[in-house]
Amino acid sequence: MVKKKVVLLGATGSIGKSTLEVIREQSAKLEIVLATAHSNAVELFLSADKFNIPNLVITDEQAIRAIPPIINNRKIYRGESELLKVLNELDYDIAVNAISGSAGLRSTMAILQRGKTLALANKESLVMAGHLVKELQAKYGSKIIPVDSEHSALYQAIGKHPQQEIRKVHITASGGAFRTLPLEDFHKITVEQALKHPNWEMGAKVTLDSATMFNKALEVMEAHWLFDLSYDRIKAVLHPQSVIHSLVEYVDGSFLAQMSVPDMKLPILYALSYPERYESNLVQTDLLQLPALTFAEISPSRYPLYYLGVESGKQGGILPTVANAANEAALKLFTAGKIGFTKIAEVVEKALQKADQSEHPELEEITRINRKTYAEILTEQGIKL
Ligand code: NDP
Ligand code: MG
Repeated sequence: MVKKKVVLLGATGSIGKSTLEVIREQSAKLEIVLATAHSNAVELFLSADKFNIPNLVITDEQAIRAIPPIINNRKIYRGESELLKVLNELDYDIAVNAISGSAGLRSTMAILQRGKTLALANKESLVMAGHLVKELQAKYGSKIIPVDSEHSALYQAIGKHPQQEIRKVHITASGGAFRTLPLEDFHKITVEQALKHPNWEMGAKVTLDSATMFNKALEVMEAHWLFDLSYDRIKAVLHPQSVIHSLVEYVDGSFLAQMSVPDMKLPILYALSYPERYESNLVQTDLLQLPALTFAEISPSRYPLYYLGVESGKQGGILPTVANAANEAALKLFTAGKIGFTKIAEVVEKALQKADQSEHPELEEITRINRKTYAEILTEQGIKL
């Protein structure tokens, strides 16, 4: 059997490691031909030995200085420009983009420009440049299979149904670390508390974004681009158990949902096996052990960043990039102890108020505004880049 050749961007992160577990179980069907890390070279090299990965990329400048040109017969590439070059030249079938934050954007573009299939975890790519991503897909016939659990659920529940048969999609939200904390205690929230997600094991940024629910705003924007739906047809709903990963409401009033215990290995496996389903024991759900499933409205006073983020998406253009960059900067300030948890939303709101709209920004403008917004917020607070 010919194995699918997989590129894994962000192999040392939370999604990256779950992807490695999926590939270990499915080693008769999948092989990794390229894996990347930013600074965590040692961990990447260990995985390369375990999975016999021939091509590796390290992107962080400081980490690059410390590594030899070839290790154990593996080719090592350095920096984002070499990464983009190798994505353009290497032979592969599918690329998992599990880089965190805005740093994943150029890789997304390179994969789509190559006409390849992209298993997309890096939702920021769509948030910042959904309009450009759509253009590339149309031009090069490339395919995106979502890895984000909610979008994987929607992708599975939509199947081959045409868009006109969908009345709405409902994206579920766990509510993050502070869904039951009294509002008057929000000013006391510590970084350690915000980094603990009640249901999911995830990287630091997405865990913090779940606590503020900015993550759900990013996911609404992601759904807008992935499924070509206007914002009035995308709803988010609180579902604290994280068992139903999202629901499609059809025009006849029927709802189709996808469910399992919360574990990212399942949407990753689905993206890598699509259009087939591979037999797997990685995620097992026992119906009788599940908690009662409940749904509730997302409270604006508890989650102001959700509403701010969605509003930036509705306005479109450059504003989602501004919101996303301001949020990345605010999280950096929060984790550095410079601002409190409730200030994160204020930083984003201020950046949006100051921003000049640009309706159809090109990639160069998106990256420039992304960098500028981030840098201005940090330097205002005396943090050197
Ligand atoms: P992590 O922070 O755990 O991992 C990020 C990965 O990206 C690491 O391999 C890291 O390398 C690499 N990386 C970091 N900065 C850069 C950079 N500047 N250039 C290139 N590579 C970089 O993140 P997650 O795995 O949690 O998330 C990855 C993406 O998936 C995010 O967009 C997130 O929103 C999305 N996602 C995550 C989910 C989850 O469950 N974790 C769920 C749904 C979506 P190094 O280790 O060397 O720093
Ligand atoms: Mg998600």
